[in-house]
Amino acid sequence: MGGKTGHGTHPRTPPQIFAVPQAFKDNLKDFQDVTYRTELPVVLHVTLFKVVFVKDADVPLTAWISKAEAVLAQHNFSLNFHPGTKVPIPLQFNGGKLNLGTDIAELRQAAHSTFQDNAAPPRLPIIICEFSDALRQGTAGETQINRQNPPNGRVVLADGTAWLPFVLLPSGDPVADNATMVHEIAHACMLGHNTSGGDHLNILDDTPNVDRTKVSRNRINKFQIREMAKAYFALPKVVVK
Ligand SMILES: [Zn+2]
Repeated sequence: MGGKTGHGTHPRTPPQIFAVPQAFKDNLKDFQDVTYRTELPVVLHVTLFKVVFVKDADVPLTAWISKAEAVLAQHNFSLNFHPGTKVPIPLQFNGGKLNLGTDIAELRQAAHSTFQDNAAPPRLPIIICEFSDALRQGTAGETQINRQNPPNGRVVLADGTAWLPFVLLPSGDPVADNATMVHEIAHACMLGHNTSGGDHLNILDDTPNVDRTKVSRNRINKFQIREMAKAYFALPKVVVK
């Protein structure tokens, strides 16, 4: 979830009316296949950062990670974390709560200064931070991506710098099913909410007013797996036929 019109990746106000995308009609079988496993294991490479003034107690990081690993494992995917301890790299960022696009640009630059990623493939930065009330729409995260810019969705921020997609995860008031991290990872793979196919159990479902204490998102369909298997931070990049 997350995102604001003209700012992030996917407008969420007013609540979206689900429209069946053409790709859905063309790939109905793939949308309905929620048990697909890739033949080769796929590893998604991520880096964890946390702004130093965010309290550990305000972030369900262990639950986010466990959920993401469990859901991905069903499809022969795993996560490779940097740092390997899964303890986020402390990020010195004095901008306070994220509010404007310029704050996001500053935060991304701070992450780059703290950890210069020379890995192949590049890792997906996941930055735990604090959102302002203005930025925070609902309780979910925010993936910075330009899905109109294939193949990777490289995005230009307010300061004019272009980055590969990255994820912001807010502290406080988490979604009860703990699917926020895996949801945003899926966004970073060029996937929008409509690829959930309207399935309330799908990790990209963004239907408002669903009780996530009861309806826990844990599905990924084959259409989505196909995109995730070729994400910029995936290795090997697997072609799903
Ligand atoms: Zn979303």
